[in-house]
Amino acid sequence: MRVLKSTLLVFFCIQFLLQLPQAQAQNTELNRISAVERSDGQGYVVRYHLSSPVDSFEVYQPAENLIQMILYSSDLDTVNFRKPDPTSVFSSIDVYSLPTGFAVDISLGEGHYFNTNVYPDQNRKDLLLALTSVSRSGMTGLNEDMQPIDWGHYAGDTFADSDFSFFDDDEFSRFNGSSLDVVVIDAGHGGRDPGSIGVGGVREADIALKVALKVGEYIEQNIPDLKVVYTRTDDSFVGLAERGQIANENDGDLFVSIHANSFSHSNVHRQRSANGAEVYFLGMARSQSALDVMKRENAVIRFEEEQTQQLTEEDLLIYELTNAGNMRISEELAVQIEQQFRERAQRRSRGVKQAGFQVLYEASMPGVLIEMGFISNPDEARFLNSEYGQAIVASAIFRSIRDFKLRYDKSQNRQTSSN
Ligand SMILES: [Zn+2]
Repeated sequence: MRVLKSTLLVFFCIQFLLQLPQAQAQNTELNRISAVERSDGQGYVVRYHLSSPVDSFEVYQPAENLIQMILYSSDLDTVNFRKPDPTSVFSSIDVYSLPTGFAVDISLGEGHYFNTNVYPDQNRKDLLLALTSVSRSGMTGLNEDMQPIDWGHYAGDTFADSDFSFFDDDEFSRFNGSSLDVVVIDAGHGGRDPGSIGVGGVREADIALKVALKVGEYIEQNIPDLKVVYTRTDDSFVGLAERGQIANENDGDLFVSIHANSFSHSNVHRQRSANGAEVYFLGMARSQSALDVMKRENAVIRFEEEQTQQLTEEDLLIYELTNAGNMRISEELAVQIEQQFRERAQRRSRGVKQAGFQVLYEASMPGVLIEMGFISNPDEARFLNSEYGQAIVASAIFRSIRDFKLRYDKSQNRQTSSN
C-alpha cells in the first residue's frame, strides 16, 4: 500500500510536470522565504516572497519532521533566491527548481510538530504556509504511508547561500498604491445608533463626530497632499459594511475609527472610576476587556437593516495569517497614537490592544480603532464633551497621522533612491 501510494504520487507529479502549459511566459520570481512566529504564539508562518501569484500549490507531510511543498508556476525565476540559514525550528529549507515551478522541503528540528495550511496572501502575491504547533499525536496532516519525494530526481539543483530572516523589514513600507495619500476618518455610530450614553447624557456618536471632523480639518489645513474621506459628516446612521465600502471605494490607505468607551458595572464607584484611552488594531483579542469592547462596538449590527456578515474566529485567524503587512502598519500607527495620547495630550493610556472589530475588517486597509476615553467616568465625559478636550484629542490623532506619513514618505524616498 505504502509503495503503491508513493508510486501513484510520483506518477501524478510526472503527469503534472508534463501537462502544465508552458506557453504564456509570465515570470514568477521567488525572492526570499521568511518565517515569523505567529502572534498567538501557536506556531509559525512561513512566507514565500513572490513577484506574482503561483498557479497552484500542494503540501505534504511525509514524515513528522518534513514538510514538502510544490508551487506550480508557468515560468519561475529564482535568480535572486538564496537558501535560508538553519534555525532550531527549521533545521533546513531547501528549494528545488522544477520545470513547472519549484519544490520546497522544510525540515523541522526535533520535537517540533505542526499541522499545516496554505493561504495566498490577500494583499500581496505571496504564499503563506501556516504552521500550527501540535503534539506528536495531534498531527492530522501526516502522510505516513508516503515516501518523501526526491526532487533532485526531477530537475535542477538546490539554491545556494542564505537569505532567511525572522523579521520582514520590507513589510512596513507597503500600501495599496505604494504611497500614503488617502486617510479615511470614521466617526463611530450615528443616527439611530447613539453608541454609549455617558454621564449627563453625553452621546458617544456626537463626541466621535466632533473629534473626527476636527482631525479631518487639521489634516486638510496642514497636509495638503493627504486626502481626507469621511464615512459620515453628520448625525446619520452608517452600517459597518458600508463604512468599509466607503473606505475601499475611495482607495483609502489608512482607516481611523473614532469611539469613546463606557464601562458598566453594578458597583457605581467602579463604573465611574474606569478611565483612559485605548488604541486597537485588528486581530484576535488577548484579554477579556478587549473582548468586551469589541462586542460592544460590533453590536452596532443590531441597528442595521441589512446586517453585516459577522466576523468569525476563523475569519480573524485567516486575517492574521494573510495580512501581516497591514497588521504591521496598523500596529505602528496604533503605537504612535497611544504615545501622543500619553505624552502630548497627558491622557491616561490603557495601551495598544487587538480585537476583532468588524469595521476594521470591512475596510481592507491598515487601520486603528481609538477609544478616546470613558464617558461613563464623569471627568472624562466632561473633558471629551468640551471643545477644549475634543481639540486636544483631535490634535493628538492628527499629529500621529502626520508623523506616520512623514516617516512613511521618508522610507519610500530611501527605497527609491537606493534602487
Ligand atoms: Zn463606539
